Amino acid sequence: MIAETALTKAQYLIELEERYGAHNYHPLPVVLERGRGVYVWDVEGKRYYDFLSAYSAVNQGHCHQLIIDVLKKQAEKLTLTSRAFHNSVLGEYEKYITEYFGYHKVLPMNTGVEAVETAIKLARRWGYEVKGIKENKAKIIVPEDNFHGRTLLAISASTDPSSYAGFGPFVPNFVKVPYNDLSALSKALDDKDVCGFMVEPIQGEAGVVMPDEGYLAKAKYLCEKANVLFIADEVQTGLGRTGKMLACEWEEVRPDILILGKALSGGTLPVSAVLADDEIMLNIKPGEHGSTYGGNPLACKVAMAALQILKDENLVYNAMYLGQYLRNELGKIKSPLIKQIRGKGMLNAIVLNTDKKDAGWNLCLKFAEHGLLAKPTHDYIIRLAPPLCISKEQVDECVQIIKQSIKEFKA
Ligand code: PLP
Repeated sequence: MIAETALTKAQYLIELEERYGAHNYHPLPVVLERGRGVYVWDVEGKRYYDFLSAYSAVNQGHCHQLIIDVLKKQAEKLTLTSRAFHNSVLGEYEKYITEYFGYHKVLPMNTGVEAVETAIKLARRWGYEVKGIKENKAKIIVPEDNFHGRTLLAISASTDPSSYAGFGPFVPNFVKVPYNDLSALSKALDDKDVCGFMVEPIQGEAGVVMPDEGYLAKAKYLCEKANVLFIADEVQTGLGRTGKMLACEWEEVRPDILILGKALSGGTLPVSAVLADDEIMLNIKPGEHGSTYGGNPLACKVAMAALQILKDENLVYNAMYLGQYLRNELGKIKSPLIKQIRGKGMLNAIVLNTDKKDAGWNLCLKFAEHGLLAKPTHDYIIRLAPPLCISKEQVDECVQIIKQSIKEFKA
């Protein structure tokens, strides 16, 4: 038994998680109970700016009223039928999202990593059926330092020991090349058994690592030349986050397979999707892939609302415009602690100039003290990714918080 009386409410709730939950996360000691727009409130009623946005799942802002209304209305009517039957929303959603992104077909899933798995299965199947690769020989090229989620397939593609170590054996046939290295990619593409190249347009989890301008366009060209599918994992970078609807649009690249997740539901439930044209998608036949919840009517309605909001509220432009403004303003902070400010749109990072492993964590505690929530990735990098509905005045206030926190900070 955990005695509630001697502890604050927050301490008690943290204690419960510690005692009864797996220890696979290490959260900041903040217990949130409410959210609206760019703000979240903790159990003591303290308000924070959310600069993580649930890893870019709440691009539209917390509890967007339109999404919540649509969700409630559909939840009263029909939530799940399974794909053993048709439902009255799926077709409408499939038409909507394929027209929205300009693909022939969509395959609906739930979490981001499931969509990643789906994309790899599609690429392999295409490799066998269309490209003519011999059975079980298909390979996928991935850049180093990638992050595609936590399943065995995704960690098999990973080069980060904290993701994969101690979980083997792994899924074979991932070929790893350095990110942003076109000659390594070109060499790897010489292998006729390669069916796909899967890439994040910006590596979010690696610390908002951006390739050189031209990398994506050139990589796409090399893939086309080698008859290899270009697979874009836009689970984090997509849906307005980087100041374009898709980060690939910065280089006018149209992926052969597009993976979306996170903000596809505006942070309400797991909704992901894989988009591709018929030549790729129709190689998977009935009964060969699926998911109990994939394409459920509740998710379909929510996803349409989430996508419509991005357009109606001009959130993509807002991300581009205010993201640039945020980086400019942060760039004016003079501190030996700041090594670099980088990013695109509203996917940004402060790289710290320190070798103290807990500096990022401690600075985030300072931010929290002043009412802004962010989380370090890889100790020295703090990602700054607020909901895209943030206003200029709010950005100004957040810059002041960051400035003040850095000033008070002792590494
Ligand atoms: N792909 C990318 C680029 C991601 O950033 C993530 C999650 O952070 C995933 C895939 C996995 O998504 P999920 O956690 O919904 O499975």
